[in-house]
Amino acid sequence: MPLLVQKFGGTSVATVGHIKDVAKKILHSREAGYDVVVVVSAMGHEPDRLDDLARDMGISDCSMHREMDVLLSTGEQVTTALLAMALMKMGCPARSYTGGQVKILTDSTHTKARIMDIDVAKLQDCIDAGRVAIVAGFQGVDEDHNITTLGRGGSDTTAAALASVLKAEECQIYTDVEGVFTTDPRVVEGARCLSRLTFEEMLELSSLGSKVLHTRAVEIASKYQMPIRVLSTFTDSPGTLITSEDDGEMEQPIISGIAFTRDEAQLMVLGVENVPGIAWKILGRISDANIEVDMIVQNVAADKSTDFTFTVRRDDYEQAMQILKNVAKTIGAREVTGDNKIAKLSLVGVGMRSHAGVASKMFGVLFDESINIQMISTSEIKISVVIAEKYIELAVRALHSAFELNE
Ligand code: ADP
Ligand code: ASP
Ligand code: MG
Repeated sequence: MPLLVQKFGGTSVATVGHIKDVAKKILHSREAGYDVVVVVSAMGHEPDRLDDLARDMGISDCSMHREMDVLLSTGEQVTTALLAMALMKMGCPARSYTGGQVKILTDSTHTKARIMDIDVAKLQDCIDAGRVAIVAGFQGVDEDHNITTLGRGGSDTTAAALASVLKAEECQIYTDVEGVFTTDPRVVEGARCLSRLTFEEMLELSSLGSKVLHTRAVEIASKYQMPIRVLSTFTDSPGTLITSEDDGEMEQPIISGIAFTRDEAQLMVLGVENVPGIAWKILGRISDANIEVDMIVQNVAADKSTDFTFTVRRDDYEQAMQILKNVAKTIGAREVTGDNKIAKLSLVGVGMRSHAGVASKMFGVLFDESINIQMISTSEIKISVVIAEKYIELAVRALHSAFELNE
């Protein structure tokens, strides 16, 4: 029988009542002739509750990562058992599995581990026995059997990886919205649900801040050419199908969507000498501290000195600033400043390849709203700008309407 991998996110399994409804959805797929492997997230706000417990213990995010993983992984395990019970009460054979029981092998980078290998034997036996396999999302084990987790939103990645190794017909991501929209429908009321997207576009949207899909999930699906469908747990609409570009006919609008993130901070080193090695001296120390750098801008030097600006995750701002102040002394920079109230907004679309003028239109719209652009970066299918955080929603709405994305 053909196989579907179906993932249900936190809101979809928030209560016992929700879990019963999810069980009914799974039964419908079985009745339609599919074997089903299910991946679940923790119930509702359970991940936040677990986080708070650690915080109450005085543990900040960046310490005791191994124990954080043991703690956070419990949420998904609860959902697997309850969903298996719900299905069995409806007469459908089912069995729950933790990441470790399946053997989802990951590296040992606690709190943001990467999947290395999946042993399909247990799941295949479960399917062959006519049962629904319910796997805890977001978790795995490393080679020493330590529990690991895949980072926030990681259940999507569990689902994409399982669908790929089990050669499912489709990986279905059930969530609390009807699919992937032109931008976050909670910010722009007129956002439109897209019927199709390419892996390439979804990869940009995810990595630039649209949290509807975990970036790693899209990477894996793209690598294994596994179609992903994002759809609502609460309605029966067909959702958004994400496949490779040359899959059938696909309209190619210039802009497919707008992604944004408030998760950034900007650092500036002013008045550095315009000589070889400066970028390396500044960014080398930052990367030694395992801080990821996103955008980088070095001004053209009008005289002998120049300015160097880059962005990091907001969580890393204080640490990066401290490092930078030390580096500044050694390279004789005039001043170090920063801003952690910035946001990044990106226009994404494969159609941009063949269209000039998108950037200038974008800049014009922001000018009309008197929004200052602090940084710009572009690639073939996206344009990103950094602006003050307080203008982000205004900017998203203005651009959404200027590029007629609601139509
Ligand atoms: P789940 O718990 O099911 O994994 P998430 O909260 O991770 O759900 O992702 C769904 C949310 O993503 C939506 O509620 C929506 O607010 C947000 N979102 C951001 N950008 C988009 C977008 N372009 N399309 C749809 N949803 C988006
Ligand atoms: N529970 C994890 C999270 O909070 C994994 C997930 O739901 O995707 O993101
Ligand atoms: Mg999610």
